[in-house]
This record gives sequence, C-alpha cells and structure tokens, in this order.
Amino acid sequence: MLQGKAALVTGSTSGIGLGVARALAGQGVSVMLNGFGDPSQIEALRAELAAQSGMPVAYHGADVGDPDQVAALVAATEQAFGSLDILVNNAGIQHTDPVERFPQERWDAVIAVNLSAAFHAIQAALPGMKVRNWGRIINIASAHALTASINKAAYVAAKHGLLGLTKVVGLETAETGITCTAICPGWVRTPLVEKQIEALAARDGTSIDEAVANLLGPKQPSKQFVTPEQIGGAALFLCSSAADQMTGAALSVDGGWTAQ
Ligand code: NAD
Repeated sequence: MLQGKAALVTGSTSGIGLGVARALAGQGVSVMLNGFGDPSQIEALRAELAAQSGMPVAYHGADVGDPDQVAALVAATEQAFGSLDILVNNAGIQHTDPVERFPQERWDAVIAVNLSAAFHAIQAALPGMKVRNWGRIINIASAHALTASINKAAYVAAKHGLLGLTKVVGLETAETGITCTAICPGWVRTPLVEKQIEALAARDGTSIDEAVANLLGPKQPSKQFVTPEQIGGAALFLCSSAADQMTGAALSVDGGWTAQ
C-alpha cells in the first residue's frame, strides 16, 4: 500500500518517532530519520532499520527549532528519495514549571520545537505533495492538545496550537489527495516521560514503580502506558486509504485520558 513512498519523521532517534519510523519502513517506505544523540548510536540505528526493512534509511541532524534547518531537512529528504510523501512532525521537548516561574527561554524553545517546526516543515513539504496530489501530514500532538495539566504552560499551548494548525492545513488541502491529521497520545514511556517519572519519585521520596503508578493513576484510566508501536500502528492507519476522508482530525490513543 505504501510501497515506494518516502517519509520524514522528525525526532526519530528515540521514543515515539522511532516507533513511527520503524512502522513506516516495515511497510516499504523510505525513511529520513532526524533527531539528536550519539552519532555512532544513530548510525547503528539507521543501519539496523535499513537492514530490517530492506528500505533506504537516511539521517539528517537538523535542529528543528531553527526554521532554516527545517527547510534544509525537507530539501534533503526530497533529494535523497525523489519525493516527500509522508511528513510526521514528531520532535518535541518538555519543560515543567508554574507559569509565573516559567523561564522565557524555555517557553520559546518549547513553542519553536513543538509548534513552529511543524509549520515550517509543512510549508516546505506541501508544494511537492501538491504536484503529486498525494500526501500525509501527521502531527504528533498529545492528550495535552485537548486538555491541560498544571506546570505545562508552553507544552499545552504548543500542542493546542498544533491541533489548530492541523485543522487549518486539513481545510486548505481538503480538495486534494493530501490529508493532515494529529495523533494525541496519552502517557508513553519514552525518555521524555522517564525524566518526569524520576522527578516525581525524587519529589515524593518514592520508588520508580510507585512514581509510575502516581503518574498514570490520575490521568490514564487504563493504568497502562501507550507504546511507540501502537502510535506507529495509528500512523500507518492514517496513511492508509481507509483514512482518505480523515483530515483536520485528531486521533486519541490515550487509554481513556480525554474521555473523562
Ligand atoms: P523523546 O524524548 O523520546 O524523543 C524526542 C525526539 O525528538 C528525540 O529523537 C530527540 O532527539 C528529538 N528532538 C528534540 N529536540 C529536537 C530538535 N530541536 N530538533 C530535532 N530533533 C529534536 O520523546 P517522545 O516521548 O518520543 O516524544 C515525541 C513526541 O511525542 C513529542 O512531540 C511529544 O510531545 C509527543 N508526546 C509524547 C508523549 C509521551 O508520553 N511520551 C505523550 C504525548 C505526546
């Protein structure tokens, strides 16, 4: 179904982005990886993914917080594979603090990486998708695109903004073969969340297991983490023809978080 397509997954050296990249490569998609990390580990990851899938897998180290580097990343993907058919805006960072103590520099960084990067990537990728009249833009938002939590002003603002951007791009491309959707995960146990678990354990003087229960308990009714593989599966569905009429829409994968 997706054989011969090419994808860019931002922030795919770890966590959810890596799960989505694996799912796409497994379906015959050429994948451009992006994100930070140890160069030798990233190269090992790239080679492993290419060997497992038999597909071309490339890597570009753009910092998506910088608009010029986002444009270069999209151009490099088109150059490497001849097209960019599936854009997954996934790179994200977190900072937690009450709003009156929230450092301005952290606000700017969270908005740049979690929201503005998606705008710049979509702007750069759309012309090519329009020429081919097919495209999938998937924004990895969050349960925090639909509801709020304390101490996450920048993250919640960015994710709500990302869902707004999803709706606008969905409308602007509605008469084309391009769709723009958002996936809204609940808690997924990735390095981004591991930091929050450790902070909770340190704050409350509990074990890591107790901190996990305290993290999931109030938010995620299933009391289980969502997995990167499940988000990869949701992305494959949104890329399929079954989702041709899903655009400007959000798909929650959150163990019931936002049903409350
Ligand atoms: P993660 O920390 O495991 O991965 C983040 C990825 O983004 C890494 O590859 C990292 O190198 C990359 N990255 C960070 N800043 C970057 C930058 N400036 N330029 C390029 N790459 C950069 O985090 P994750 O949990 O997998 O998060 C991925 C996305 O999923 C984020 O947008 C996050 O907000 C969202 N999300 C996560 C959860 C969760 O519970 N983990 C829940 C909902 C939404």
